[in-house]
Amino acid sequence: MESARKTLRLRARLTLTFGLGALLLTSALSVLTYLMVRSNLIESREQSALSVASVNASQAERRIYEGATDKAVRDFLSNLRGVRSESTPLLRLETDWISADPVVFEAPGSLNSDLLDTVSSSSSAGAEMKYKMEDGTPVLVIGFPLATRNALYFEATPLDDIEDTLSSLSNVLRLVSAGICLFGIALGSWASRRVLLPVEKVGQTARAIAVGDLAARLDVGDDPDLATLATSFNQMATNLEERIEADAKFASNVSHELRSPLTTILASIEILNSDKHALEESSQLALDLLNEDLERFHQLVEDLLEISRYDVSANALTLERFLIVEFLERVIEQNSSTETQFEFPSELSDTIVEADKRRLARVISNLLENAEFYAGGATCIEVIQINDGVSIAVFDNGPGIALNERSSIFERFARGSEGGRRGSGTGTGLGLSLVAEHVKLHGGSVAVSENLKDGVGSKFTVLLPGVVR
Ligand code: ADP
Repeated sequence: MESARKTLRLRARLTLTFGLGALLLTSALSVLTYLMVRSNLIESREQSALSVASVNASQAERRIYEGATDKAVRDFLSNLRGVRSESTPLLRLETDWISADPVVFEAPGSLNSDLLDTVSSSSSAGAEMKYKMEDGTPVLVIGFPLATRNALYFEATPLDDIEDTLSSLSNVLRLVSAGICLFGIALGSWASRRVLLPVEKVGQTARAIAVGDLAARLDVGDDPDLATLATSFNQMATNLEERIEADAKFASNVSHELRSPLTTILASIEILNSDKHALEESSQLALDLLNEDLERFHQLVEDLLEISRYDVSANALTLERFLIVEFLERVIEQNSSTETQFEFPSELSDTIVEADKRRLARVISNLLENAEFYAGGATCIEVIQINDGVSIAVFDNGPGIALNERSSIFERFARGSEGGRRGSGTGTGLGLSLVAEHVKLHGGSVAVSENLKDGVGSKFTVLLPGVVR
């Protein structure tokens, strides 16, 4: 879960990087495009307006000879062609302002006073200025001083068409930027999924190995970059598998090797036991202690041998078909020294299961022994059929198992707080782990819960598949 969250975060980071990268790139390109287009448009408008205005100014110079009437000048101005049809010529003769009809650009109100000063103080050079009129329209005004009649010629060209073009361009660029940014995010998400896929597979394989599938390996594939990772990972997994197998074999070999001297010791102790009454009291006490420890040692070696067979996968079920009720009755009879009730629905009397008798007997007897040892004996064994299997529950009225120990007591060498209280000299901590292994081999499960039936104690439930009839 934790690693899944980390992967998500990494993916989100990669996606975000792609999105931000695309946004930065496309923004920079958009700004650059906008500025270039803007300067090109304005420059070319300025150049053409300047050349048209200078031609118009020299024409005006010829038409404003002394004696030319205002009307003639106005008609002339109205017929002049500017760079745009909206371009407006304007003339100052001495102190009078004459505009073309209709009057679009009014003097001196619309004329910038600085520009007016510059042009009127100059003898021949023209001047130009871009500014916004009162109504907000951007305008380019070019002015020339004329040689006759102390005249000034101005030509105002509105730039609103360029502003409109630039604003449309900026909208298009904004839209394109947003689109490219979204595309970047989508690309980032797709790419990060692809890039992280091998990492995810490594995680899955590692998880499979962690839960016991030691043969799980990565597909090496043909990408040389990933092949190195996959090969190293697989090599590590192989080493781990070999190491675990070697450890399991070691435990199995050690238990096996201990068995024969132990048998000899047990046989010798048997002889001593038979002559026990001939020994001194202190020797008898020592013999009793030896008997007790040897018994536990013997159990430990047998359990270790059995459990190590599971590690080297050398355990196979020897399946037999038998009447479950009859079988359980016999096991209870052999193991339970107290009055243990046996409860089952009558229709179960004829039910036949297919299971490994030796292992199942070991499972039940182990649960009964534990009940005897930790809880003063099993109070009841209850068997019922559940689907194609049976549920065998062993109840006791003992101290019960603390909630936090309910799964750990099935681990190897795990001893509950109750086990510890009874002293370290008793039990091996392997009993319940063997029970779990036997049941698992059958495809079943075992769990412990509270004994709700009596309100005190514990209930160990074995679920076993294999009902034949
Ligand atoms: P061992 O009996 O050798 O300690 P087990 O694997 O059989 O090992 O049991 C593990 C622990 O589970 C015991 O140490 C004990 O604390 C606890 N336990 C098992 N059965 C019972 C029970 N019926 N009631 C209370 N505690 C139990």
